[in-house]
Amino acid sequence: MREDIRELVAVSSRILAANHQGDLIWGHSSMRDPDGRGVWIKEAEYGMEEVTADRVHLVSPDGNVESGAGTRHNEYPIHTEIMLARPDVGAVVHTHAPHAVALAASGQSLRPVSHAANLFVPPDVPRFTKTADLIMTRPLGREVAAALGDRNALFLVNHGIVTVGPDIKSATVTALLLERACEQQMRTNAFGGWPTWSDADESAAKRDHIYNARAISAVWDYLVRTVESR
Ligand SMILES: [Zn+2]
Repeated sequence: MREDIRELVAVSSRILAANHQGDLIWGHSSMRDPDGRGVWIKEAEYGMEEVTADRVHLVSPDGNVESGAGTRHNEYPIHTEIMLARPDVGAVVHTHAPHAVALAASGQSLRPVSHAANLFVPPDVPRFTKTADLIMTRPLGREVAAALGDRNALFLVNHGIVTVGPDIKSATVTALLLERACEQQMRTNAFGGWPTWSDADESAAKRDHIYNARAISAVWDYLVRTVESR
């Protein structure tokens, strides 16, 4: 069981890296410990593409490494405090996805100019603006969890993104889709002109048609195949 969790977190890390969400040694995904001891998350000081199961360890809400070795990420409270606030969440991703950081910093709202953003809006993706510094304490982690609310994604403005899901598949695929949505909006804006996007009814329909649980699972399986064939 533990080996399965470590392997899943490692594969998630490599998928995120292969899809341009790595920022040198920064960025991480995690899974909830089934025994309630905290989160399984990659060790610090490695790039996400370097993560194997033996570089995933268990971190408690107080920041102790309870199982495994290595240095823990300073921003572990993003993961542990969201898990505590959201019983429905089984996995959390935090990265510095470049287009998402740029869009959030621009002050523009995310608009569903292509498929991807329909997973998120409407309503607007929530934004955490208290600080753009690292989330290194439990109180700050709680504030991030409060800003996320019951949503699937959060912009940490001038810093990065947080995505969540019931499992590591959905949290990881959600992170990839948020970045794709922001990149598509940047391309749309680059043309100038008169951008159009889906209205609320169409967004709701597309969310169901395109990003239902079965499709998200199939996307994950595809992504696993792509990293395993490298
Ligand atoms: Zn960060």
